[in-house]
Parts: sequence; C-alpha cells; structure tokens
Amino acid sequence: MQASVTKPVFRFAPSPNGRLHLGHAYSALLNDDFARRFGGRFLLRIEDIDLTRCRPAFEAAIYADLAWLGLAWEEPVRRQSEHFADYRAAFSRLQGRGVVYPCFCSRKDIAEAVACREAGGEPWPRDPDGAPLYPGTCRRLPPDEAALRIAAGDIHAWRLDMGQALLLSPGPHSYVRFDRSMREEPCRAQPGRWGDAVIVRKDTPTSYHLSVVVDDALQGVTHVVRGKDLEAATDLHVLLQDLLGLPTPLYHHHDLIRDPEGDKLAKSRRSEALVVLRDRGVSAAELRVRLGFPAQPMPST
Ligand code: GLU
Repeated sequence: MQASVTKPVFRFAPSPNGRLHLGHAYSALLNDDFARRFGGRFLLRIEDIDLTRCRPAFEAAIYADLAWLGLAWEEPVRRQSEHFADYRAAFSRLQGRGVVYPCFCSRKDIAEAVACREAGGEPWPRDPDGAPLYPGTCRRLPPDEAALRIAAGDIHAWRLDMGQALLLSPGPHSYVRFDRSMREEPCRAQPGRWGDAVIVRKDTPTSYHLSVVVDDALQGVTHVVRGKDLEAATDLHVLLQDLLGLPTPLYHHHDLIRDPEGDKLAKSRRSEALVVLRDRGVSAAELRVRLGFPAQPMPST
C-alpha cells in the first residue's frame, strides 16, 4: 500500500549508543532540509530498543548536538523503549498470519550448520549485510517441541518464515524512491534475499526491522531519508508493511559520509564525533556548509 501524501513528514531516527558523528549530522540536516524546502514536518525518534547499549547520556547528547546544528523538531519525541507494546501487537499480527517461528540457535549453531553445508563445496548464500542466510534449522522443529522449549524458558528469537511470507505476499514488491528535487521513480524490492530474518531478538522484544516499520506508520512518516547502508533493508521493510497492512513511505537513501580513508564513519571509533569537532573550534555554520547546506537553517516554505 503506498502512502497518499499531503504534508510530507520526515524523521531522523538515531540510536543513543554513542555520540553522533558527521554522517548523522548529514542525515539529520538532509531530513530537515527536505522538510523546509517542501513544507513538511521534521520528527525525531530515539531508537533505543537495545537496552544494554543505549544510554540516557547519549540521548541527552543527541538533543544537544542537534540543537547546536540549528535543528528543531516536534515534541514529544518518540522513544522506542516506551512502546514495546506496539511492537508486541505487530508481532502478534505476524504470528496470527503464521509467518514467524521461534529460533533457539546460537551464532555458533548457525556458523556450524553453514560450515557443514559449505563443506559440500558450494558457498552458502549471504544476506545483503554479508551474514549467512539462516539455514532453517528451527523452522523444521515440530511446533509442540518448540512450545515445550519455550515453556521451559529456552532463550529464543523469532524469525520470519520467508517462504510463508512470500506465499502471503507474493509481490512483485516495490516502493517509490525520490531524489533531492522530490522527483519520484518506482524501484523493485527483493525481500527474499534476507532469508528468515530475525523479527524479534533474543535480548529485546522487537528488532530494528519490526520497530522501524511500526513507528514510521504510527508517526505518519511519509518520506524516509536515511543512508545507503539501509537501502537493502528497505526491501524487507516493504514486505513487513504489506504483511502488517501498513503504508509504505517513499524513500531516499543518501550517500554515506566517509572518512579520509574511504571508510564509513562509525560511532565506535568516535570518528568525527560532532562533540570532537566542536571542541576543536569548528562552528555549526562551518560544519553545515562543509556538508553542503546553508550556514543558517532556511526559513520553511
Ligand atoms: N536507528 C538507525 C541508525 O541509527 C536508523 C534507522 C532508520 O533511519 O531507519 O542507524
């Protein structure tokens, strides 16, 4: 289902698991720039489903860094950790459609099963992130055995049964992408290349993929602007939206800001953290210009 658009709604959705870097600044500024140029709204969402890695101090720093860049967003900010009930409801819907199954495998179990298959000489297929596709071990568990293991407290994730999902939603899957001038063009999606993706993680009652489609729908996001590193994930999001009866926003996947060696910036390396640049005396206006935006935010149209 394609969203019908009146006033476009954009969002920036960082995870508070480190300090924001130049790449985040670019993504946030680009969302804000789209909203200003096309009379849209700019929302902020805190993606803090990972309760072990996300920290209140990083969340506070996100607000400070974005305000320093000259950005303003609508309140209240949606914090994913306050909405696990919404993700549970979406998960129940998938469960009701028979497209998820519990998975008890550890990373080691999966690596061993894949190595076993690769021993035959054929390379095992990988998902777009480079991880081996799940070999389907737990998909073949008899349901009563799985239920007993759950009742006994065996730690498990929930995976999408891609084969079943594609029977219910055979496609062809597609979405509309837009460029910097908001020119639109259709784009094919191939969700099958994700295999039986994890939909509910072992350590938190949702996953990035599930929460992002639920939240984009609940927040009325019409235009998703995010990095090219998430372009392939959109294929899976389109399938989940279809299975859950949610609208599909339009998408723009921007180039990533790279460090001088050509590597993607990472929070873990503190590479070009905004706070480091600021402490070095770089002004917000200089940074905005360096990233290709006006020194001061433009008035909204
Ligand atoms: N939370 C994700 C990140 O920090 C972005 C998710 C999205 O834009 O869909 O990389």
